Amino acid sequence: MNANISLSALHSSPNQPDAADPRFIKVGGFTPFTATDYPGKLSAVVFVQGCPWRCGYCHNPHLQPRLQQPRHPWPQVLEFLARRRTLLDAVVFSGGEPTVDPALHDAIADVRALGFAVGLHSAGIYPQRLAEVLPLVDWIGLDIKAPFALYDDITNTPGSGKQALAAAEAVLAAGVDYEFRTTVHSSLLSDQELIDLGHTLARMGVRNYALQTFRTQGCANEGLNATAKPGYPSEQLAQQLAALFPSFTLRRG
Ligand code: SF4
Repeated sequence: MNANISLSALHSSPNQPDAADPRFIKVGGFTPFTATDYPGKLSAVVFVQGCPWRCGYCHNPHLQPRLQQPRHPWPQVLEFLARRRTLLDAVVFSGGEPTVDPALHDAIADVRALGFAVGLHSAGIYPQRLAEVLPLVDWIGLDIKAPFALYDDITNTPGSGKQALAAAEAVLAAGVDYEFRTTVHSSLLSDQELIDLGHTLARMGVRNYALQTFRTQGCANEGLNATAKPGYPSEQLAQQLAALFPSFTLRRG
């Protein structure tokens, strides 16, 4: 989901004393209502500011810098959510990378105290912090970008595969509901690399896996947009992967 949706009622002003308070999570975007970001639940999405990786297909590059001023002060986001308690089931923390923020644990506790279920979208960049918040999370969508040995080619960040592997192991050990999902583009991963990744995940015990096709909409990378193949991945490749998991989803476009 693109985080460029703003809510004028939540915009910060430079004069607000809490705008850069380190106790509060830094919110770079907010979606007040969605039915697609947490399976089966009506949710609001909090987009956390900051991500140290640089994936070529990132749809939210404006969320990558860890800015000092949040776009939406957390106390105002909480006030808004409190007024929506009867309309929403859940709050999803997305990004950017939500585990970049030391205040994530407290922010999750805040929304749980309001009675919401908690969803988390993460690429597993900070596995230790992820493990710390998982007991408070009801469902996580964990990005698995590539076979772990090939991660750096996608994230343009050395050592990223080790972090992602540790995060995947933490999610499986936590017993939380999850979906592992991989964004696919034919020039980033070959069919064989996708099959290899599927076997690796199946051996780890992953039960719920999804492929989501690369979307040109909202992606500023002209090279990837120009080489995106309609109809990729093939049905045959999808079926090979589906056979490895009890639950498999292919999301196109
Ligand atoms: S991990 Fe996610 S937010 Fe960070 S650069 Fe990659 S796609 Fe963008």
